[in-house]
Amino acid sequence: MIPVAEPCFDEHVLANVVQAVKTGWISSKGPFIPEFEDAFAGYCGAKYGVATANGTCALHLALTVLGIEAGDEVIVPSLTFVATANAVRHAQAKPVFVDSDPNYWCLDPEKLEAKITRNTKAIIPVHLYGHPCDMDAIADCARKHNLFVVEDAAQAHGAEYRGQKVGSFGEIACFSFYGNKMITTGEGGMCLTNSQALADRMKVLRDHGMNPTRRYWHDFVGFNYRMTNMQAGVGVAQLRKLDQFIEKKRAIARWYEEGLGELARMGRIRLHPEVEWAKGTYWMYSIVVEDGFVSRDELARRLEEVGVETRPFFHPLHILPPYRDGESLPVSEEIAARGINLPSSVSLTREDVEMIASQIEVMR
Ligand SMILES: *Cc1c(COP(=O)(O)O)cnc(C)c1O
Repeated sequence: MIPVAEPCFDEHVLANVVQAVKTGWISSKGPFIPEFEDAFAGYCGAKYGVATANGTCALHLALTVLGIEAGDEVIVPSLTFVATANAVRHAQAKPVFVDSDPNYWCLDPEKLEAKITRNTKAIIPVHLYGHPCDMDAIADCARKHNLFVVEDAAQAHGAEYRGQKVGSFGEIACFSFYGNKMITTGEGGMCLTNSQALADRMKVLRDHGMNPTRRYWHDFVGFNYRMTNMQAGVGVAQLRKLDQFIEKKRAIARWYEEGLGELARMGRIRLHPEVEWAKGTYWMYSIVVEDGFVSRDELARRLEEVGVETRPFFHPLHILPPYRDGESLPVSEEIAARGINLPSSVSLTREDVEMIASQIEVMR
């Protein structure tokens, strides 16, 4: 079976884990944590990094330090992984869903304005499947209405908007290092910010709210959202490979485009987009199936038969039981029903991709 995603480790990963274990620094103190925070923040062009136990608590930590609380509304795209909205709920606030742009599947900035109320405090743009959001348009809207911007960059490490890396826009940006993400630490996450005050507050809240100069004095109810030194060691080694991983994923995208180009020209499928101001990372190379081709689920079934694993797109969050409100967001619903992630691991060969593409091609 060719998997949708698998991690790729080199000997430095193993060496760093061994070093963490041998030195006894296996918990959340140790040298790899600040090293990973500084290196990852530097890579993304942000000043400060705060490593966390996973991406969901990175989002929750970010919303909490920004003062998001009960009664507040936070705008999130409907077409995203559920953690984006769950983090808003964890902060006792209400996620308000906005539809996607049909061309590149991320939050549609033109639909933002209509969602803003007196209670709106923040927008969480999600760089879906490695494609950046239109950050200028989102920033304009946020400035006009005095809203925070918290990037959810969990799927887009190293993606660029107009030449600037994601993770460097907005008040805080959140990343995940889950096993299938661009780079992984097993479980893990990070908040990036250019504000020292926000970074310091996030570090305190991450560590039970303990006052950094007075042991066991707790000014707030904090969390245990710390990353371990073992994980940070993995992260340090993974980060060195990130540019290579991105280039490989972009090559995989070009191979899929070659193999599937004819089907796209015939209007049977839509290829993974990359708009002119974006450099995507193609975290998950994805296509959208049009009418007149086999259905998305039939496509998945037939690929499985020939040993190719796929994943359907996320269900739009506004139809899930915890968030259902009867509203219709037609673009998200359409893309979610027709979208499929194809194998995208950096270990794929050109022959693998050609085989997968030709298996899809024969279904025309
Ligand atoms: C993976 C992911 C998260 C959550 O990250 P975890 O590390 O799994 O908690 C949040 N948002 C998006 C868009 C993701 O893809």
